[in-house]
Amino acid sequence: MQAPGPPLRMPAQTSQERAWTAMAQSMAGMIGVPGRRLSGTGAWRTVIGMRHDVVLYQGEALGRYGFGGGHPFGPDRLSAFLAELARQGLDRAVRTAVPVAATDEALLRFHDAAYVRRVRLQSLSGGGFLDQGDTPAVPGLFDAASHVVGSVLAGAALLLQGEASRVFVPIAGLHHAKRASAAGFCVFNDIGVLIESLKRQGLTRIAYVDIDAHHGDGVYYDFEDDPCVVCADIHEDGRFLYPGTGAREERGRDAGAGRKLNIPLAPGAGDREFMAAFGEVEAFVRAARPEIILLQAGADSIAGDPLAHLALTPEAHRHATKRLCALAGEYAQGRVLAMGGGGYNRDNLAATWTGVVRELLADR
Ligand SMILES: [Zn+2]
Repeated sequence: MQAPGPPLRMPAQTSQERAWTAMAQSMAGMIGVPGRRLSGTGAWRTVIGMRHDVVLYQGEALGRYGFGGGHPFGPDRLSAFLAELARQGLDRAVRTAVPVAATDEALLRFHDAAYVRRVRLQSLSGGGFLDQGDTPAVPGLFDAASHVVGSVLAGAALLLQGEASRVFVPIAGLHHAKRASAAGFCVFNDIGVLIESLKRQGLTRIAYVDIDAHHGDGVYYDFEDDPCVVCADIHEDGRFLYPGTGAREERGRDAGAGRKLNIPLAPGAGDREFMAAFGEVEAFVRAARPEIILLQAGADSIAGDPLAHLALTPEAHRHATKRLCALAGEYAQGRVLAMGGGGYNRDNLAATWTGVVRELLADR
């Protein structure tokens, strides 16, 4: 496994920060994350001059999710983003929360028990793959993957309790993983676990918007017949890119018919095509009157990604974030949970995710 990059800054806690940590601890318990993992090292920062409390999950346990040896999803992605966030001075405007591991009980809300056991066993010593060859079982992968899920759940708990209106989990949005298998660099499907958890909390109108270059097949097919999950996915046309799905005609089925929107873009499509597609997404999400909005803000749809062929700029992701925050303000008590998703060009992911955070912070 390659070096995880420079150590992440963990400031000492003030009494106010300790109070935040205790609050997060009790709320995280409600959604099935073991609160004890938040105690002791939790670090929170105060919002400075910004109306919206944005909570950013960051820390070594999350940064470790990745695969070494030159794999495009390396463990250096988090530090690349954090360096740009600090360069633009936005690290001081967000509150920081330390990553938290999901319990087995939480993982099993979405995943098959035999699969969870297999990931745990195979990541003890590493070796082999968890799928057909994209997702290697590196040592420590179970722990890193369960921190991705746990951080997303803990962030959602803050939103549901009204303790934050926006959350960003940069290493998250692993939208290809299936209930019983890994796929496309995704071990546990944090989005799937979150949706199942939100439904248990009584939510019936959950909007999932995915602007990663790849179709979010692990979410789409699992909830294809579920009317509670409103999916809108803009991606590169599946005839040209993994996983090959997400055609226009795929609109959900049975009780979920009409509750999904897939918009494939041709290779080379840029911001003009994206903005037009996003107008359609916005109208679709608005019609659903969502109680919470989840955004998978994959940066592999930006021009210059080594694995995809779209040509967006970070402005596309800023626009999407801005519009979804406005929609959340109208219908969802402002609740937006954004996840970093894919993105394999480090400069692109750093610029794109920093732009997403800037829009999450904005007052509107
Ligand atoms: Zn992707």
